Amino acid sequence: IYTNFIRLDVDPNRIIGIMALIQDVTEMRKLENMRSEFVANVSHELKTPLTSITGFIETLKGGAIENEKVRNRFLDIIEIETERLRRLIDDLLSLSAIENNKFPLTREEISVNEVIMEINNMVEGLVLQKHIHYVTEIESSLPTIIGNRDRFKQMMLNLIENAMKYTPDHGVVKVLVYKKYDNIFLVVKDTGIGIPKQDIPRLFERFYRVDKARSRKVGGTGLGLAIVKHIVMSFNGDIRVQSEIDKGTEFTVRIPIIEQKS
Ligand code: ADP
Repeated sequence: IYTNFIRLDVDPNRIIGIMALIQDVTEMRKLENMRSEFVANVSHELKTPLTSITGFIETLKGGAIENEKVRNRFLDIIEIETERLRRLIDDLLSLSAIENNKFPLTREEISVNEVIMEINNMVEGLVLQKHIHYVTEIESSLPTIIGNRDRFKQMMLNLIENAMKYTPDHGVVKVLVYKKYDNIFLVVKDTGIGIPKQDIPRLFERFYRVDKARSRKVGGTGLGLAIVKHIVMSFNGDIRVQSEIDKGTEFTVRIPIIEQKS
């Protein structure tokens, strides 16, 4: 902690007061560290796919283009890495827009049922590909949530996609929505790989991943849960995680029905 004493004197011979400025430097330093760590992470995350893309293009130009099999394999990799870059940039832009909250967002009545139905269509490919047993149970006559619909949908999609990504083939993913007291509870439950206890407190940090290599393989950016956390906060809600290794994970979002400011 820094303490600065500032003399308040118009006439140097007559001190009229002393003002003490106390600054918590540890907090400032922590923020500064987080910021530079974030920039380093972003640079690294953007550079990795770019290095790979450049490498494969060079190899193609160096002669590999002549062999059809090799050419197609390299082009596939370039496509995957480009897609990864696009997702990363999309997520970074979303996160920055949510954090800055500069533009007033449209607020509307959100029908949870409708949003979940739209998401079901979006994840259909993943469900089929991984033979996931996907179940949604939405309480009938739920009150509508008020807020930004796109954000709400993004939050649910991130949680549901994660549940599917981190669950082995033939696993179960359940979405439960119900009202209790003056809250709507949205639960996303899976029978996946689980999250170690020590990682749970850091889960919502930007770029935090339990297993970097595995997350990269399943196509993650490490920003999904940071985005989820900010959206939940914009709905004045909170989020809890319960998990057991090799048994599964359960994320529970609580959104108060009244007093929403999204
Ligand atoms: P990513 O893009 O890597 O999935 P997220 O921010 O969405 O990033 O999630 C952060 C990390 O939390 C993931 O890398 C993964 O290790 C862990 N995780 C998130 N959801 C689940 C889940 N349902 N089951 C197991 N691990 C999960």
